[in-house]
Amino acid sequence: MSKILIVEDEPDMVLGLKDNFEFEGYEVVTATDGETGLERARSIKPDLIVLDVMLPKMSGLEVCKSLRGEGWEGPILMLTARGQEIDKVVGLELGADDYVTKPFSIRELLARVRAVLRRTEGGRKRLSRYSFADVDLDFEAYKATKGGEALELSPREFELLRYLIERKGETVTRDQLLEDVWGYDSYPSTRTVDTHVAKLRAKIGDSGSEPRWILTIHGMGYKFIDPS
Ligand code: CA
Repeated sequence: MSKILIVEDEPDMVLGLKDNFEFEGYEVVTATDGETGLERARSIKPDLIVLDVMLPKMSGLEVCKSLRGEGWEGPILMLTARGQEIDKVVGLELGADDYVTKPFSIRELLARVRAVLRRTEGGRKRLSRYSFADVDLDFEAYKATKGGEALELSPREFELLRYLIERKGETVTRDQLLEDVWGYDSYPSTRTVDTHVAKLRAKIGDSGSEPRWILTIHGMGYKFIDPS
């Protein structure tokens, strides 16, 4: 689950954003002035910061500059006011990854947040090999063995397994899997995810009723665990 820090001083806006982001499955921490925002960013290490430019105590631009100066590399999405074109330019120069101009629709902001997170995750080194129990996986060569015997997995099954293993111990929602493993283009139903997980479990020797590796998190999605 991605952790988002929202730094914004308008109470209604904070509430609205918090509700919507939580509804989308993000963990949300908020701050209502620049100084507090900077402290929270240092202490909670969010996956992304939504940062308003006009803030009490310390502006969003200063917060951005300080964080980049400290070597913080996480994504920052700026909220700029209409007519403040200069903020966008300065913000991007100071290291913001993207900006959204107020007033914006929450759908637009969420789409931008997802895009920024995907972009920055793409830069993260992907898992190339993994072994658990008697299963050996080579994600680069798309080769797998179980007990030394070749294990036939489709490219989608490889991606699904890699995605879950890269997030070992975290609950991954079906929507997240649809969006990141299947992609928007083919948008299938969440049933598709369940069907693939069932097949994958059968292939790796996991059980649907008492899974050991790919757990079903009721009402949420799936979680890969590796007790060894
Ligand atoms: Ca403001």
